[in-house]
Amino acid sequence: TELYRIDDWGAPYFTANSSGNISVRPHGSNTLSHQDIDLMKVVKEVTDPKSSGGLGLQLPLIIRFPDVLKNRLKCLQSAFDLAIVNKSYDSHYQGVYPVKCNQDRSIVEDIVEFGLKSRFGLEAGSKPEILLAMSCLCRGNREAFLVCNGFKDAEYISLALLGKKLELNTVIVLEQEEELDLVIKLSKKMNVRPVIGLRAKLRTKHSGHFGSTSGEKGKFGLTAIQIVRVVRKLDQFGMLDCLELLHFHIGSQIPSTTLLSDGVTEAAQLYCELFRLGASEMKIIDIGGGLGIDYDGSKSGESDLSVSYSLEEYAAAVVESVMLVCDQKSVKHPVICSESGRAIISHHSVLIFEAVSANQQHETPSDIEFLLDDYSEEARGDYEKLYAAAKHGDHESCLLYVDQLKQRCVQEFKQGSLSIDQLAGVDGLCGWVVKAIGGSDPVLTYNVNLSVFTSIPDFWGIDQLFPIVPIHRLDQRPVARGILYDLTCDSDGKIDKFIGGESSLPLHELDNEGRYYLGMFLGGAYEEALGGLHNLFGGPSVVRVLQTDGPLGFEVDRAVMGQSSADVLRAMQHEPELMIQTLRDRAEEAGGGDEENGALVASCLDHSFNNMPYLNKEMSE
Ligand code: PLP
Repeated sequence: TELYRIDDWGAPYFTANSSGNISVRPHGSNTLSHQDIDLMKVVKEVTDPKSSGGLGLQLPLIIRFPDVLKNRLKCLQSAFDLAIVNKSYDSHYQGVYPVKCNQDRSIVEDIVEFGLKSRFGLEAGSKPEILLAMSCLCRGNREAFLVCNGFKDAEYISLALLGKKLELNTVIVLEQEEELDLVIKLSKKMNVRPVIGLRAKLRTKHSGHFGSTSGEKGKFGLTAIQIVRVVRKLDQFGMLDCLELLHFHIGSQIPSTTLLSDGVTEAAQLYCELFRLGASEMKIIDIGGGLGIDYDGSKSGESDLSVSYSLEEYAAAVVESVMLVCDQKSVKHPVICSESGRAIISHHSVLIFEAVSANQQHETPSDIEFLLDDYSEEARGDYEKLYAAAKHGDHESCLLYVDQLKQRCVQEFKQGSLSIDQLAGVDGLCGWVVKAIGGSDPVLTYNVNLSVFTSIPDFWGIDQLFPIVPIHRLDQRPVARGILYDLTCDSDGKIDKFIGGESSLPLHELDNEGRYYLGMFLGGAYEEALGGLHNLFGGPSVVRVLQTDGPLGFEVDRAVMGQSSADVLRAMQHEPELMIQTLRDRAEEAGGGDEENGALVASCLDHSFNNMPYLNKEMSE
């Protein structure tokens, strides 16, 4: 486990067990009545058609642990509750979950349910997001906030106003000055008194990758000039009492509490200024997202991959900063709202995928011969020099002559004077020599049954790293280091950077059965909705696993197979039913109406359209 630093990034949810498999401790601590969940057992249970559940799902697979989600929510709430009690802060914390982090129905419904007691709400940033947030919150706590962020048109604002009519605790946060006119007009038309928030563009700048949102040139929010104008206009329309919330977001993965306190302090000053300008109904400060997680387990906060604080330290810094400013300005303490997404859901899902083969870069075949006499005089000359260097143990010259010999042979092949057998012969020989002198790159390439573009898009798009670890055989010493090539026909479809700054990952040899399972951890936020359909590899299978005290220690309470080839084709406007008919008609024509042939074609097509696009080992066996 030390090799993969599992205890650093995985605590308290993931650890290696005595069987060498990764275990999940969904409640974050040992409970007397429950055993840890062995990830390999889950994989076996849901993929093996002969298992008790008989699901027979294909990989890749996302395993969701709602118990982990529940624990994260509980810890976040407790951290703020504790800070509030410790500092005698005179209001409460009431968070919202930004649904953009993962809009999956079960996640949003779980959050609303788990957050019933603590009034946990939702944040939306687009029209479909507000639609889902409204319908989910109908079953939530009536006081839970529905925070409406993002660019808004009349339709979006009407939906938000409708939310108010439905007695949801809806706040329309103005991100653009122009939105105000629409809010004034539509609220009159719909006869709704809106609750309005302002998103401020803070000067505090988060300098990491995720900080482009912040600072004077940031994409979102109102400047000081715009805030003053908005306040005046609200006053002019007799609506200044509708202004209740101040929002800001300086970016995801805030690295330190120093930066956090700086931003919160600036926002708290703005909050108090709004009060001074007459917005006497102000009651909420919404500190946005940014609560980070420690992907590399270093707790250093030195890169986008880590943060240097705990949940408790984060909450304490926020409460203290708001309180200091408000006390100084004699303003009543506001409700503190946060829009933490990454910190709530990252841990709760694990992506499982398989390595299907591993290749050495230099092949050393035993069945390809090198017959010196078959080669040109020049090539033989190169060989003689190589032989002499090898005899003298001069490795540097060896590598030089290997290169020279290979280049010459390629040249001769291009000219047509060397056959493919001779080219293979010289490649084999050179492979042997490089291996013998220890000059071969020991890094293997592992082909994995996955699309990086679909399942780890942030790795491709913004170089975000996630812990990737074999989920079994951790009690065996890895034999190689490897990089991972995905299934797409794209040279970017590879993973060659790993946490800890490594350019390869310690990996095991594929065993005789060729089963080698890897897990990508802490990827519950953002990756699913950002993922695309490159090469038409669609979304993975998903299961939801609950901890129980039954014999397996868990129960699969929901399982959905990943997108089939028909599903991804439909997404590109193809019509699978029509395609099948066309192909079957053609088969009938070509096969002269042979019934057996027709049945074979039909079953083959049926299988392929209904299966997932990924490699399917079961079928070849
Ligand atoms: N709120 C807003 C306005 C955001 O833009 C974001 C994400 O960038 C979030 C909340 C969630 O941030 P995080 O995932 O860092 O909690």
